[in-house]
Amino acid sequence: MQVVLFGPPGAGKGTQAERIQSTFAIPQVSTGDILRAAVAAKSPLGKQVGPIMAAGELVPDALIIGVVEERLSHSDCARGYILDGFPRTVPQAEQLDAALARIGKRVDCVVSLEVSDAVVHARMKGRGRADDGFEVVQRRLEEYRKLTSPLKEYYQRRGVLRPIEGVGSIDDIARAIASTLASFARPLSR
Ligand code: ADP
Repeated sequence: MQVVLFGPPGAGKGTQAERIQSTFAIPQVSTGDILRAAVAAKSPLGKQVGPIMAAGELVPDALIIGVVEERLSHSDCARGYILDGFPRTVPQAEQLDAALARIGKRVDCVVSLEVSDAVVHARMKGRGRADDGFEVVQRRLEEYRKLTSPLKEYYQRRGVLRPIEGVGSIDDIARAIASTLASFARPLSR
């Protein structure tokens, strides 16, 4: 089962991706986590993306696509995965579709966490990550609106978009996501 978890910064994608990971026993692939690890390790990739991330901008498509393709080639991804933070632009989604088509697979479901701008702002204020300063948050939201939100229509047209209310208790949201995904794969507990 190939799942994309979609939503604005602060929608709770990371939290919910972890829940899906344990419910369905497929790995969470978070591009934000991979890039932050590269920055912390001061690897060549990290040195390249560090300043871009600190500014709240998106790293170049060609770069992130290479990173994701490499990660998805690992054996733990053979039964599927949850993508968190990728794709973030239409070209990224097109590349993912093409890569999956080459191996006879597809994105089964795009869970779109629906959260209002006001809630996003409130959540980002309380978080305190290195790239959570006011201006950087504004920049990330701008990038989201301009480059990422058009993906909703892209996946809608392919019939795989499943909007889920992203406000409420973490458990309630996790249950709503699990019941949506249960039609694509069996949860571990059943
Ligand atoms: P958020 O908490 O806003 O969802 P992430 O942790 O997913 O953010 O990503 C943090 C930063 O990493 C982004 O602001 C961006 O600079 C970079 N990044 C992560 N994923 C991608 C991607 N798919 N394309 C381009 N840049 C990305």
